[in-house]
Amino acid sequence: MRIGITCNRVGYENRLSMAYVRAVAHTGAVPLLLPVCANMSTWKQFTETVDAILLSGGSDPDAQHYGEEATPQQGHVLPDRDSMELYLARYALRNDLPILGICRGAQIMAVAAGGSLHQDITEVQHLQHDQKAPRAYPIHHVTVEKTSMLHQITKQEIIRVNSLHHQAIRNPGPTMSVCAVANDGIIEAVEVPTHPFALGVQWHPEWLWRQYAHAASLFFALQAAVACAK
Ligand code: MN
Repeated sequence: MRIGITCNRVGYENRLSMAYVRAVAHTGAVPLLLPVCANMSTWKQFTETVDAILLSGGSDPDAQHYGEEATPQQGHVLPDRDSMELYLARYALRNDLPILGICRGAQIMAVAAGGSLHQDITEVQHLQHDQKAPRAYPIHHVTVEKTSMLHQITKQEIIRVNSLHHQAIRNPGPTMSVCAVANDGIIEAVEVPTHPFALGVQWHPEWLWRQYAHAASLFFALQAAVACAK
């Protein structure tokens, strides 16, 4: 079983944190790194090669993808990464391919599904979403919707998560539902009820899975969704 993980691009290099690789490998699946490239025929072959997709974290998706002009608060943009990940997310959503989006990955899923983002949550947040604590330390609570797939997976209504974001999903789009929110109303997780496994989380479970069962359960659920589809 191969789970494709999208890389980040830093200058001329593709990079991926070991944290994602270890979290996926821990489930028994093969972590297959998907480098950022500008070739759509390669993206298509990625979809034919993997059994599931994990969209990793990173910088800001450009606002033009949800029909807005970039404000001064929008951060670093990687146009080729945006294009590739939106392609992969749309493919996964249309073709029932299991997909897990983490942080930027959740935002990409929402944009791919016709939703929109807060370009900067500084003005609307009341909690610390860009934590100063170590990244493996959970900094705020989220409330999980009881009827959601996320609740079936984590089996918890309140979980404590880490938070390393300055953007968030504003509108998840017509097919996606919000399945977790922070106490200040910031959307922290989304899923597609009509899809076998399409889940996006705003936090970083790849830094939490060793210590927190709710975080490990997300990677096992992705792996199980593939096993179920086979
Ligand atoms: Mn947060």
